[in-house]
Amino acid sequence: MKLFASRPSVKLEDGARLEIDGLVVRLTVSGRARRISLRIDPLKREVIAIAPSTRRLADAWSFARERRDWALERLADLPPPIRLLRDDDIRIFDQPHRLIPDSRRPRLLPASDESPARILGCGEGSVDQALVARAIRREALTVFTRQAAVHSAALGVVTPRVATADARTRWGSCSPPRPGRVGAIRLSWRLALAPFVVADYVVAHECAHLIEANHGPEFWRLVGRLVDDVAECRAWLRSNGASLQGFGR
Ligand SMILES: [Zn+2]
Repeated sequence: MKLFASRPSVKLEDGARLEIDGLVVRLTVSGRARRISLRIDPLKREVIAIAPSTRRLADAWSFARERRDWALERLADLPPPIRLLRDDDIRIFDQPHRLIPDSRRPRLLPASDESPARILGCGEGSVDQALVARAIRREALTVFTRQAAVHSAALGVVTPRVATADARTRWGSCSPPRPGRVGAIRLSWRLALAPFVVADYVVAHECAHLIEANHGPEFWRLVGRLVDDVAECRAWLRSNGASLQGFGR
């Protein structure tokens, strides 16, 4: 007796990631949503189908299927991820660095009288994005640690522990100090590819969370004491974040 193969059923639940012919759709239930809608997530390069309730997820799913072509076009319009080639210059905290593919340990070399700033050890023959990323990440930790010391001193708090991270959806996070434990902040190393003022704004933002664990007016007042042009920095991250997130992945 031949059994009928059961039809592959699509499980419609909050947070599920489903595919429609090459388009990834994430289903999301949001209590704040009033109707079904689609949103592009530029960092993950996928579509979010939002439903106001679990009951409406099926409608959100069909809406996403109807609008597949529209969503693919929107995704294609996103800025391309950064790709590096031999002899390219890459800006790290605003400083142009020449990529030098060779077999040395990946590291940054500051500019000297004889030569511009360089990244050594970018791979043999061609540029290996992962090796470049490793060198940048090390530099990012040095700069973040220095800036966290500056901002925490200005706030009058103990300097937090600093680590680099590689989250796709957030630029930084903060664990405020507790009795017997200093605070800690984590920052995406990819911020080294942003203008210095933008990276420094994120460091200041996480340092301000050492005092205020929310995004209320007092929090923003503290951030404004530490850095200028907060709105411009946030706008820059919204427009350019996808390029930074695409690098080396
Ligand atoms: Zn925050």
